Amino acid sequence: MNVLPSNEPTFRQSVDLMFNRAVALMDLPPGLEEKIRVCNATYTVRFGVRLRGKIETFTGYRSVHSEHMEPVKGGIRYAAAVNQDEVEALAALMTYKCALVEAPFGGSKGGLRIDPTQYEEHELELITRRFAYELCKRDLIHPSQNVPAPDMGTGEREMAWIADQYARMNTTDINARACVTGKPLNAGGIAGRVEATGRGVQYALREFFRHPEDVAKAGLSGGLAGKRVIVQGLGNVGYHAARFLSEEDGALITGIIERDGALHDPAGLNVEAVKEWMTRHGGLANYPDATHTRNGGAVLTEECDILVPAALEGVINLTNAHNVKAKLVIEAANGPITAGADDILRTRGTVVIPDLFANAGGVTVSYFEWVKNLSHIRFGRMQRRQEEARHQLVVDELERLDVAMGDAWTLDPAFKARYLRGADELELVRSGLDDTMRTAYQSMREIWHGRDDVTDLRTAGFIVAIDRVAKSYRAKGL
Ligand code: GLU
Repeated sequence: MNVLPSNEPTFRQSVDLMFNRAVALMDLPPGLEEKIRVCNATYTVRFGVRLRGKIETFTGYRSVHSEHMEPVKGGIRYAAAVNQDEVEALAALMTYKCALVEAPFGGSKGGLRIDPTQYEEHELELITRRFAYELCKRDLIHPSQNVPAPDMGTGEREMAWIADQYARMNTTDINARACVTGKPLNAGGIAGRVEATGRGVQYALREFFRHPEDVAKAGLSGGLAGKRVIVQGLGNVGYHAARFLSEEDGALITGIIERDGALHDPAGLNVEAVKEWMTRHGGLANYPDATHTRNGGAVLTEECDILVPAALEGVINLTNAHNVKAKLVIEAANGPITAGADDILRTRGTVVIPDLFANAGGVTVSYFEWVKNLSHIRFGRMQRRQEEARHQLVVDELERLDVAMGDAWTLDPAFKARYLRGADELELVRSGLDDTMRTAYQSMREIWHGRDDVTDLRTAGFIVAIDRVAKSYRAKGL
């Protein structure tokens, strides 16, 4: 969906420019750079579905950017403006994202040119199953080759249809459930996948704020509490990020930008209430507790500490980058800042936490789901037994102490119950995600601080990712 001024490169070119900035600072064997950059293949399919008495033709894509690791991984997007350039850019970002967070996948992405709001649920099911059929036939959905996931315009429901379609076409595949991630819990999904990308944004920011030196680079100080945050897009990613940041970290959501304008309130918006309003009324207009403006762009450039673009690519571009006042921008969406805007922000000293890191929470938890499906065991079940056995030893000891101490000390039964329960799947997923985000941030940070020729986190992130992809190509003997 590139609604960019004509003097800007396309989304795919923009990603390539960022890639080029990084490889210029690396020492790759001749030719490998190009092999990594190019998209391996894009499959375009046009298929017909009989709807409302006539056959409607749809266009879909599945792009495979890099197969240095398989399966390749990436979401399927439903949007009216989906196009090949966009899907290829998103597939490339998946390659770098997976490498940076060490999810053992190559990069892929899919898209269907459709406005899902124009169709009934049963129509969407027909369309999705037919699209899935076309992709399954060509192994573009397959547990060991290509594993889709939700993206803009799709969610658990679509993933369940895709999983079922694959299972019908591959009745003897015991790993069928691992052909797609982001499924509902009752269809082989994992706890915490829906919130995962937003949760990842929160963990990314928490990790950033653990390093006062980095916070100072952005011209900020202190922690997340009280920081003024503007969120662009209150979809799955933006909503969860905004909710967690305000409810758990004390950040103030001072602006929310959506399709029909924006809300602004320097005292902080109630994210839950805004979301409810949106669900009921289809937009932000007339929301009673804050000022609504039709001009969403104006709020994007309002005074704030942290800007969270969480929807479309290219929203911060040459037309508005100069006016962005946030000191820190975290790319919750894929590609929200164009290459040109990135140059402007970097020159002005705005710190950008880049998409390949910031929104990797989704694919990280997808990885956990895929592993859970392949292992055919409830996630955490084995660890839980071990953990419970260890905890039992501690509780036995505490109970002995309780008796020995008489009235001087008593073991709290609530503590005992909580301690014995062990971690459930959601806790395991969250701690695994947190750990992943911390480690990935530190790998970027090392380069950001350690090299004089690297002045931004994006270039640092690309260097880490490209280096890992290069290593696996070399290991494969290419
Ligand atoms: N669509 C998400 C992304 O852009 C998730 C991909 C996945 O889980 O495979 O990262």
